[in-house]
Amino acid sequence: MVDKISTDIVIVGSGLAGLRAAIEAAGRGPNLQIAVLSKVHAMRSHSVAYAGGTAAALYPEEGDSFELHAFDTIKGSDYLADQDTVELFVKLAPREILRLEHWGMPWSRKPDGRIDQRPFGGHSFDRACYAADKTGLHAMQTLYNTCLKYDNITFYHEWFATSILVEDGEFKGFTAIEIKSGELHVFKAKAGILATGGAGRLYSFTTYGHSATAEGMAMAYRVGIPLKDMEFIQFHPTGLVPSGILISEAARGEGGYLRNKHGERFMSRYAPEKMELAPRDIVSRAMMKEIMEGRGFEGPDGLDYVHLDLTHLGEKVIDEKLTEIKMIAMKFAGINPVNEPIPVRPAAHYTMGGVHVDIYGQTPVRGLWAAGEVNCSSVHGANRLGCNSSIDCLVYGFLTGKQAAEYASKKNNPGSFPTQLVVSEEKRVFDQIFHGGYGEDPYLIKRELQNTMSEKAYVFRDGKGLEEGLRKIRELRKRFGTGKVNDKSKEYNQNFINVLELDGMLEVAEVVVVSAIARTESRGAHYRLDYPKRDDVNWLKHTLAYRTPEGPRLEYIPVRITKWMPTERKY
Ligand SMILES: Cc1cc2nc3c(=O)[nH]c(=O)nc-3n(C[C@H](O)[C@H](O)[C@H](O)COP(=O)(O)OP(=O)(O)OC[C@H]3O[C@@H](n4cnc5c(N)ncnc54)[C@H](O)[C@@H]3O)c2cc1C
Repeated sequence: MVDKISTDIVIVGSGLAGLRAAIEAAGRGPNLQIAVLSKVHAMRSHSVAYAGGTAAALYPEEGDSFELHAFDTIKGSDYLADQDTVELFVKLAPREILRLEHWGMPWSRKPDGRIDQRPFGGHSFDRACYAADKTGLHAMQTLYNTCLKYDNITFYHEWFATSILVEDGEFKGFTAIEIKSGELHVFKAKAGILATGGAGRLYSFTTYGHSATAEGMAMAYRVGIPLKDMEFIQFHPTGLVPSGILISEAARGEGGYLRNKHGERFMSRYAPEKMELAPRDIVSRAMMKEIMEGRGFEGPDGLDYVHLDLTHLGEKVIDEKLTEIKMIAMKFAGINPVNEPIPVRPAAHYTMGGVHVDIYGQTPVRGLWAAGEVNCSSVHGANRLGCNSSIDCLVYGFLTGKQAAEYASKKNNPGSFPTQLVVSEEKRVFDQIFHGGYGEDPYLIKRELQNTMSEKAYVFRDGKGLEEGLRKIRELRKRFGTGKVNDKSKEYNQNFINVLELDGMLEVAEVVVVSAIARTESRGAHYRLDYPKRDDVNWLKHTLAYRTPEGPRLEYIPVRITKWMPTERKY
């Protein structure tokens, strides 16, 4: 018999978005019980790794404005962002910076004591608030400490959600495995928030932690919620070769140069005005063009690279503002950036697409919201600007926490409960996969999947390569079978969890590639060599992928434009 835990709100995911949502819900509903689940300890969520900064228009008196932040975001998105969503987002952003400040966030300061801001790619004003280059660690500590002040928030560290329970279009709860005991439990709740982060680990060369495996997207997709704009995966220009660990954009924000093997600052050919601080899609393509045309350096395992040069910044700036970058370069590449350039190439870094939600983060299922990188409210469109994601997590954490609390407070009677769904999930997880699973070695399948994505759905794509990628993913799905678990122990069985993760990854990878094949244009991070132009006549629209037994079925919805008509992007 599966153990039932009754609560009011369940939040799956404890990164920036999940923690921010928990605080909002707990504050607004002191009588509500809030459960926060995370498959790793909350403080090991990927958000702790974010380094560079968090965007907000803080100082209108100095020339920044909501209008400017919105325009930069929309232009950066290659006009695919929903403009009403962006307008809401930029207006809520400064309040989130100040809230963190009040909860104890040690933002770096200007000499006059106000919160300092640094430049970031694609922003026309220096608006990245930061805490040295450990912004995420400090933001997460601040949020986690704040959560601990609320008696009505309960953390379930190392619990793995396996499915969303939905009956007649209404949210009923989640099923989750307690990793410590290996037991399946049900979280029965009035409202739910998905805050499970991005899908970076679909790729082999990525800046993401190993936990970014896309279950939130897979779980939503399985209950009929469409995944939106999944063809748009961001490649961050400066992944450290060979590990993929991120060298934060703060390095270029503080004045770092990109150079090819002739020592040229090649960005002058691609973005003469913004140079290294052009948006990420443009810089990544420029780097790959240099590499493909023979002006890069030869790297290990085909990981050819260019140089990120910080040597002219001097030891003082590097030691004060880029301490983590220095540490990472020294530890993981044996390079001291004070004296030597750092080898870098574009790495999978952000999922612009995600679970389809409305402007306020509500999914099509009543009582279920999604916040943070897992959702696609379409703030970022086809390309996200640096430091706009962490603020997106905070803004949508706030919005969804607020709505979930209001909804749960009004709902006195939780209504019927779909016991049948729990029984079939128990069968799927234990009978079909854990005990009865068949298929090839999941770790080899995962490696092949990640290599396929890195090869066929990378910075440059074309129809032929994407079709090959799709065939390969479908072949891998067959070879994966139901998923084979070799380790039969109950407690702390990571092999079992990894198989469940890979099941979802295969599903989400297929959506990325099918969506990319269909979009016969180039926009933002989706660059088709066979369709190199943006095509607003046919493609100024969002992709929605619905799950069917034959694979994803695509539909499209229009982009909402308020006042910025699409024009050519120049930097
Ligand atoms: C190296 C790096 C640097 C970055 N730098 C910046 C930056 O400078 N500025 C910026 O704005 N953005 C940056 N980003 C992006 C930004 O950090 C992320 O988009 C953001 O932190 C995502 O937060 P999140 O709350 O959505 O999810 P995450 O922090 O990824 O957390 C996901 C949570 O979901 C949980 N989870 C997932 N699946 C399950 C499951 N099945 N069951 C239970 N729990 C589950 C995980 O345990 C985790 O708690 C960076 C990203 C990376 C990788």
